[in-house]
Amino acid sequence: MLSRNDFLKWLLTSPFLFEMTKMKEVFNYFDSTSSTPKMPVLFLGHGSPMNAIEDNQFVQGFKKMAGKIPKPEAILCISAHWYIKGTKITGMEKPRVIYDFYGFPEELYKVKYPASGSPVLAQTVQELVKPTQTIIDQEWGLDHGAWTVLKYFFPKADVPVIQMSIDQNLSTKEHFELGKKLSSLRNKGVLIVGSGNIVHNLSLVDFNNFHKDNFGYDWAIEARVQINDCILNENYNPLFQYKSFSKAFQYAIPTPEHFLPIMYILALKEKNETIHLFNDKLLAGSLSMTSLYIH
Ligand code: ZN
Repeated sequence: MLSRNDFLKWLLTSPFLFEMTKMKEVFNYFDSTSSTPKMPVLFLGHGSPMNAIEDNQFVQGFKKMAGKIPKPEAILCISAHWYIKGTKITGMEKPRVIYDFYGFPEELYKVKYPASGSPVLAQTVQELVKPTQTIIDQEWGLDHGAWTVLKYFFPKADVPVIQMSIDQNLSTKEHFELGKKLSSLRNKGVLIVGSGNIVHNLSLVDFNNFHKDNFGYDWAIEARVQINDCILNENYNPLFQYKSFSKAFQYAIPTPEHFLPIMYILALKEKNETIHLFNDKLLAGSLSMTSLYIH
């Protein structure tokens, strides 16, 4: 027969208790942050990693926007640079800074962003998005889609940051639906940030005209206007079907990873909220730095 002690021993080592403890932490997380104001949501056009060490109009735009954002309890970042098979959520206490680019000046590899992680928030996100299967990841960290821009919003790196990957297997609409499941986090002091670029065709970047103000090829000008219209009119179907919608979209979005983060952000807009564009300019012919603030 099972004695009381045996039963307690079983309970302490059982997955059931682990689940219960996990759930308790998750609920505690929600309780402990119940008095925070509703967080806005942000999509940041991150552009070149050089923005981390340069001062330019886009960096000024980030800094100006930073002044409007209440200090969050934590940040959940969905970055173009973590585009993998499956949805993973970083769960480490101390995420490393990932220098996921090559051939840039030494100075850029010395930038630090020592924000802590939030294993409890990672578990909370895991619970929220169910039945979508997710993996708590201990290897990634903060890629340049996150730290090169977050450093202008929280320069002291004193807000914990977690990242959620973009699953290559999901359709554009499915990313949108997944984003919706995160909405309750906004009431719990979590700032949700998508980081990518709406128009992003790296193979056509005109490096000779990198500093020419608002310079875009004809198709980029057209795509930026069309995509911005869809966003501001909440007409998302052309965005879900961007591959077949227009020639301009095909040039603007040759690969999905820089485009998809905005799906998570648009999904979080509530009826009474407004979408504000900032840094809404083209760059080097084939990029747009267009960023969104929704509140
Ligand atoms: Zn990028």
